[in-house]
Amino acid sequence: MKRIQKLPDHLVNQIAAGEVVERPASALKEMLENSLDAAASKITVDLAQGGIKLIRVTDNGNGIAADDLPLALDRHATSKIASLDDLESVSTLGFRGEGLASVASVSRLTLTSRPHDAEHAHQIIAIDGTLHPVEPAAHPAGTSVEVVDLYFNTPARRKFLKSDNTEYAHCAATFERIALAHPQVEFTLRHNGKVVWRLPQQTVAERVGALLGKDFVEAALPLDTQAAGLGLTGFVASPTYSKASRDAQYFFVNGRFVRDKTAQHALRQAYRDVLHHERHPAYALFFTLDPAGVDVNVHPTKIEVRFRESQAIHQFLFHSVHRALAGTTAGASPAVQL
Ligand code: ADP
Ligand code: MG
Repeated sequence: MKRIQKLPDHLVNQIAAGEVVERPASALKEMLENSLDAAASKITVDLAQGGIKLIRVTDNGNGIAADDLPLALDRHATSKIASLDDLESVSTLGFRGEGLASVASVSRLTLTSRPHDAEHAHQIIAIDGTLHPVEPAAHPAGTSVEVVDLYFNTPARRKFLKSDNTEYAHCAATFERIALAHPQVEFTLRHNGKVVWRLPQQTVAERVGALLGKDFVEAALPLDTQAAGLGLTGFVASPTYSKASRDAQYFFVNGRFVRDKTAQHALRQAYRDVLHHERHPAYALFFTLDPAGVDVNVHPTKIEVRFRESQAIHQFLFHSVHRALAGTTAGASPAVQL
């Protein structure tokens, strides 16, 4: 019989990385969410070779104090929650404290930061999960996270990566989802040195137009409904703009892109009378509710959530979209019983 032994931290992080960092796009998502949680108003992304060679995210957010740099790369260390109460009403995108630790365990990571009130920046390097000492560095107020050679130390995982083009496409999709939900933030995306997106601060309508295109905007019906603490804003495309695939379906819950069965079903139902069953509706919808009404801690990458009142939410979404499609919303509350 083999005896039971505790796994070393480094291996624990690599195991978690298997869930959190499936591919470069997942590392990019963790990094972008951190920049948004740090209240950045400007975020720049540089990728090389689909993100496999390099992912660098630079922001002008709150920054990290020099003494906290090692903690930022430590597992289960977070500045975002401190208690179960905090977890139950969490309003930041991150809170599990494992994003950077996971990425650092499977890459060469450099974290450089300067809080707004600090005179100098500091930097910490982690290679294969091993932390080097914090050193002074040059950086404007804000934070840069640079991830080089993802999975260089885990060849079995590296084999699962697809071509640079495919990995790049996933990174671009991740970037676009996040940029769509945060039009007040200025974003830049470069790949192999070329600018792919340069998005200034915009209104929601401008950002949707920039990312989803003129055709979508021309076919889009605006929507803005509020009822009993639930809110739904955004655009639904008229049925003439329907798609053969689901790629123009953007649904956000409190600023987080999610795939949710309840929402998908409600929207599908709302389109049922106007859309051929083989076509897919297109929409960019921003659903808001009290954070206590949704559990975001059900999936390591938080792509899935669980609603406490899923029946009421289904009805609200269905009625809001149904009315928009009938062309009668324009600010009116749906007559929904909650
Ligand atoms: P989480 O986001 O769940 O807290 P992470 O591992 O992603 O966990 O980040 C750990 C901590 O590092 C965060 O709680 C935050 O305090 C800090 N941090 C990470 N990225 C940034 C950033 N871009 N700007 C400011 N602080 C950051
Ligand atoms: Mg995070």
